[in-house]
Amino acid sequence: MNRIALLVFGLLLLAASFDVLAQAPRPPYATTKVEGTDNVYIFRNGNHQSMFVVTSDGVIATDPIAYGRPTGGQLYLDEIRKVTDKPVKYVIYSHHHFDHIAGGKAFKDAGATFVAHRRAKEQLARLADPHTVLPDEAVDDSRTITLGGTTLELIYLGPNHSDSNLVMRLPKERIVFVVDTIPVGQVPGRGMIDFHPLEAEEFIQKVIALDWDRLIPGHPGVNDRLGTKKDAADQLALLKAASAQMKPLAQSGKCWDDAEKEFKLTGYESWPNYAAGLPFIARRYCGLWGRGT
Ligand SMILES: [Zn+2]
Repeated sequence: MNRIALLVFGLLLLAASFDVLAQAPRPPYATTKVEGTDNVYIFRNGNHQSMFVVTSDGVIATDPIAYGRPTGGQLYLDEIRKVTDKPVKYVIYSHHHFDHIAGGKAFKDAGATFVAHRRAKEQLARLADPHTVLPDEAVDDSRTITLGGTTLELIYLGPNHSDSNLVMRLPKERIVFVVDTIPVGQVPGRGMIDFHPLEAEEFIQKVIALDWDRLIPGHPGVNDRLGTKKDAADQLALLKAASAQMKPLAQSGKCWDDAEKEFKLTGYESWPNYAAGLPFIARRYCGLWGRGT
């Protein structure tokens, strides 16, 4: 091997090792304090995440995120215990989907009160999932929880990703926790299965009109970043584009198969989750414009 070939080989090896470093698997779970706050944390387990707030009178936790993770609820509680020994007073469900709310038993055993939107409470009672704690209390349009000097607003703004999503807003911290309806920097996917397309557009507009700076999503954003109002506006634009692109296909009688093949969501090809999310989006908007559902 001559010197140049050796150099090229060396550079390739170096590049390969950097590539391995860049793709090192991230830890299965993590707890991080939200920058610039005294007491707001994100617990991530796999690809799900949940906000919790520590106050002088106790903790307000949200989604247990332990679907298919039998020890996930206890793990979440253990992570909170590393931050504070105050009791967990509340567990607030973002909506009724099990991938976000299953696994709360450890919190129930520790004495937390479970709160959800009324529709979530009703649906969960009907489904009686063995891994999901039923809510103790229901919220209709809004409720404000005040604990140890922290105020958390629970706001219902109509159907969107499901018919039971609550927006959680911390007015002092100017943070909202919005699960599944507003992915940060990526194309939505499986979540479209229970989606209310037209109402979701109104919902996102209402979320943008609230007073906040940062949005914690229920799945990590691209590069783990939090969302902004621009991300919410971008997601709204994406949904409107999807709707507008599917509408003529559906109204010319092409749903399901032909429309799903022709639907490309043009303009979003470079967004993360494009290929995986596309069939779910196509099907949901075929449902809307091709079936009236
Ligand atoms: Zn969901």
